[in-house]
Amino acid sequence: MGDDITYRGPLGSLALAEAGAAGVDPADLYLAAVSWWSAAVAPAVSLSAWPGLTTVWTALVHRNTPEADPLLPLLQRLLDGISPLAVHADVTTERQFDAATHATQRAVNAGKGTSSMLLTGSPFTTNRGRPNLSWTLQGPLRLAWEREHMPPTRGKARFRGPSERLAPPDVASLWTPSIAEWEGFQATDAATYSRVLHFSTRPVDIPPISPESDTWQDELALAYAWAFNTRPFLRFSKQALRLRKVIRRVDGRWDELADPHADFFVRIDDHVVRIAGTLAASERTTVASAHVEAAWNLARRAVRDTSHLIGMDTDMVNEIVDDLDRKLLDGAEPEGELERVKSNMPNPYSYTRWKEPSGDNAVRKLKLWYRGRCQMCGTVLALPSPRDRYSEAAHIQAREDNGPDVIENLLCLCPNCHVLFDAGGRVLTDDLAVIDTVSGDAGRRLHLHRWHFIDLQYVRHHRERWRSWQEPATESISS
Ligand SMILES: [Zn+2]
Repeated sequence: MGDDITYRGPLGSLALAEAGAAGVDPADLYLAAVSWWSAAVAPAVSLSAWPGLTTVWTALVHRNTPEADPLLPLLQRLLDGISPLAVHADVTTERQFDAATHATQRAVNAGKGTSSMLLTGSPFTTNRGRPNLSWTLQGPLRLAWEREHMPPTRGKARFRGPSERLAPPDVASLWTPSIAEWEGFQATDAATYSRVLHFSTRPVDIPPISPESDTWQDELALAYAWAFNTRPFLRFSKQALRLRKVIRRVDGRWDELADPHADFFVRIDDHVVRIAGTLAASERTTVASAHVEAAWNLARRAVRDTSHLIGMDTDMVNEIVDDLDRKLLDGAEPEGELERVKSNMPNPYSYTRWKEPSGDNAVRKLKLWYRGRCQMCGTVLALPSPRDRYSEAAHIQAREDNGPDVIENLLCLCPNCHVLFDAGGRVLTDDLAVIDTVSGDAGRRLHLHRWHFIDLQYVRHHRERWRSWQEPATESISS
């Protein structure tokens, strides 16, 4: 298999399409996009093989520290409009971590963000001229990775127990330390660095590669809306589970390296599962063997890079890596069409998650998103406090027709538009343009918050209802 990276799905297409013009290595951009996307969808997506989490933690180690890291501004330009994310740079102390957590929580409470954040920059402080990852920061970092159900118990880091501190939101890391800083990692607690996949940044000397698809923006936007509206619980296909077992078995072999630095690799299976889940979520499918393979390709690069960075016996590392490559190749079975995830399956781990408080309350979500503004005409009915603003939650497929109370079937409307819509004076097209059924005029498109996904089955049901209602009325006039 060599050291090839498999550029998978819309995230892979993003990297191939954008890296050249931006002057960055496509593999670096792919990794960075995977970390970003994993954090962006983490509040919505759960994995069957891992309790809830999908966030991918990476550190891109710069051999030569660039004056300004190009990856983050690039990601912000490419992804923030599609999958908005709270980004916190250079969180180096426990207090800064807590401040970032509280800022994220405040944004959630105000309806302005999700319970997820991405840590960028570098986690190292300079202590007497020597870069250092502080012990007190390691506690909350490990908790953010493990969640409260698996508190770390070993290691030198002192941290307050999970019951004493706020459960952190979903956290991913996209650290970009310099090699000088990174070397400080070795001296500190091994339990923290194994949670991060470490990569060396590459010199940019890449022949242009064409992406498979130029529709990655549309695909990611769709996947993001899908994630937050169906809250998918992603299962692994049989073939994917088989490959994962192979990786997990080989994880036990890192001990053979008899090198304290082998601790860097103890969580390869965890990393592969998280990356595979992130990739599957970007394609709205169950996790297939192709996702596990693509994830292993990234993890394999991290294993090789890390062994170089710490100057390990690379022959021994390569032996394990090649063994794993061979076993994965043997275990690979062709898989047919990837299975789209459709249903909104209950998430057995949801009680451990730090969900948005509005998660189950569709009406409250509407109020937060639209602040009382009518989605059809834009009217805001301002009232004296405490009512502030008046708007109505309108069902698209009517309640009397068994329309559910879910956000995909609800609109935030002013009372006039609500009456017109409920009585068939207005219908919506599949493009969500508003049609006046009396005049036949097509109005502007429905105003839509970027997280508001409207299920077209309800729109069609509403349209059909008023079409079939008009038919008998016409007959009665003609007879
Ligand atoms: Zn209105």
